[in-house]
Amino acid sequence: PLRLMRRLAMVTGGGSGIGQAVAQRLAKEGAAIAVVDLNESAANETVQMLSCDQSGQKHMAFVADISSSENVEKLMSQIQSCFSRPPCISVNSAGITRDEFLLRLTEEAFDTVLKVNLKGTFLITQAVARALVASGTSQGSIINLGSIVGKVGNLGQINYAASKAGVEALTKTAAKELARYGIRCNSVLPGFINTPMTQKVPQKVLDKVAGMIPLGRLGDPSDVADVCAFLASDDSSYITGASIEVTGGLYL
Ligand code: NAD
Repeated sequence: PLRLMRRLAMVTGGGSGIGQAVAQRLAKEGAAIAVVDLNESAANETVQMLSCDQSGQKHMAFVADISSSENVEKLMSQIQSCFSRPPCISVNSAGITRDEFLLRLTEEAFDTVLKVNLKGTFLITQAVARALVASGTSQGSIINLGSIVGKVGNLGQINYAASKAGVEALTKTAAKELARYGIRCNSVLPGFINTPMTQKVPQKVLDKVAGMIPLGRLGDPSDVADVCAFLASDDSSYITGASIEVTGGLYL
């Protein structure tokens, strides 16, 4: 049975990597998808992929910068006018890296990563929560992409690690505040997943990491998408405030 039939899901960062896999997975479960990305052609490409599925749901692309409150406000009103309802599922997968060692990291690179990854997650979480509460629905699932790096740190990623630790704390707090409205909030913490983001990492490093992973391979975007689909569905209706590691057992 399709677990998300006729539900509306918003996926930020839906134009690439994990976000694109999530959009495909949720559509396969019967959801209508609002694909959000800064990159217009990437968002359109994902929508085109989705349109080939059999569910008959309408999917649409939206361009927005999640780190801008004006953009997020406009995005929410565009989605509501296209679909006549707010998304009851929101997966926030938009995120960036600007890697540099602490001793060399610029203030600008620190601010930029925090602005997109942490403030952007805050703005999206708040906007979806506000829209859902205003609409009087009694069901919602907000899923934010953290990272295992937010728990254990990583060389050259002090800005990214801090932003992802923040995402986890933000999501737990939102879970506590929004539970009374039937809105669940969880984070997914991937390890090393094969996407354009990790293609920037030197192959030598990736090979070394793969050797450290108990399951013996880097993750596939679909590994993360499967967990997001579970958290989006009623199969996880008693789970909120959780952080689920999807790492192949790395850093146990
Ligand atoms: P990706 O680079 O493939 O995709 C990210 C997408 O987000 C891109 O399409 C990009 O255009 C979009 N984006 C960037 N900034 C944006 C903004 N301000 N507003 C809207 N869209 C924006 O990355 P990915 O590997 O798919 O990662 C997805 C999420 O998972 C990120 O939050 C990332 O930090 C997290 N994550 C990834 C890994 C991994 O190994 N790939 C590991 C842990 C966590």
